[in-house]
Amino acid sequence: MNTLPTNGERPADGTPLLDVSELTVHHGQLRALDRVSLQVFPGEVYAIIGANGAGKSTLLRTIAGLHRPTEGAIWFDGQDVTRVRPERRAARGIAMVPEGRRLFESLTVEENLQVGATYARKGPWTIERVYEMFGWMAERRSQRAAQLSGGEQQAVAIGRALVANPRMLLLDELSLGLAPVVVQRIYGMLPQILATGLTVLLVEQDVSQALRVASHLQCLLEGRTTLEGRPSDVTAEQVEAAYFGLARAGHEGQRESDSLCSGSTTSSRGS
Ligand code: ATP
Repeated sequence: MNTLPTNGERPADGTPLLDVSELTVHHGQLRALDRVSLQVFPGEVYAIIGANGAGKSTLLRTIAGLHRPTEGAIWFDGQDVTRVRPERRAARGIAMVPEGRRLFESLTVEENLQVGATYARKGPWTIERVYEMFGWMAERRSQRAAQLSGGEQQAVAIGRALVANPRMLLLDELSLGLAPVVVQRIYGMLPQILATGLTVLLVEQDVSQALRVASHLQCLLEGRTTLEGRPSDVTAEQVEAAYFGLARAGHEGQRESDSLCSGSTTSSRGS
């Protein structure tokens, strides 16, 4: 199933909801992101792909305000939020579903959702609406999160983000540790989420899953952009080369891949 919200065409004169410019982030001496830029337009599903340690989570967490960039800027809805605190970014409409769900395991399903609703913006999402979307959830509202399966926990984590009524949802590795059929079911909810006017920036290691749902994608390798474009405009070979860094090793896909690159693939990760 393809959940593209549009035909993938980007607005020629539109304003991006999220505009990340030349973002560099260090963890100590390690340059986890090196001049990464991206623009996400309203209603898009923008996917960040890349192998372990590519910098995907660092990018999402920096957009949410959990890491401070060394250089670069983050604009959200026309305002510079680079130095805005995480809770203020949430209030402006950025919500994240973190890698590994991170529910409060000793709290019930409903209590976890209430945490998400604490500083909710006005909007269509309520706890009841989340229960409507995930049919099984209402009758298990009193169960502790620890008693849920991984897929169920992921659903609660998504619900917790939705009840804050964000404008942009950051999804970090929804598929992590879940069976393929569960991943399909979770991603099957995206159209309903997008229909309420949300924009999605997601991180995925499962490339085929990302390609299925994304209207735009970017591949990171060792903190740098190696590929950027619409899924319909890139070949499997280009994605593979960008993902594994084959272009850097002189793979024959290099020229094609480089034409889609917005950054060099030769990098030293030191600061
Ligand atoms: P994964 O899929 O494994 O989560 P990723 O693409 O999300 O990978 P990041 O988690 O952003 O990558 O990590 C990028 C690099 O930064 C890795 O080398 C990682 O070890 C390092 N790193 C991430 N977070 C920290 C941290 N808090 N302190 C030190 N190093 C970190």
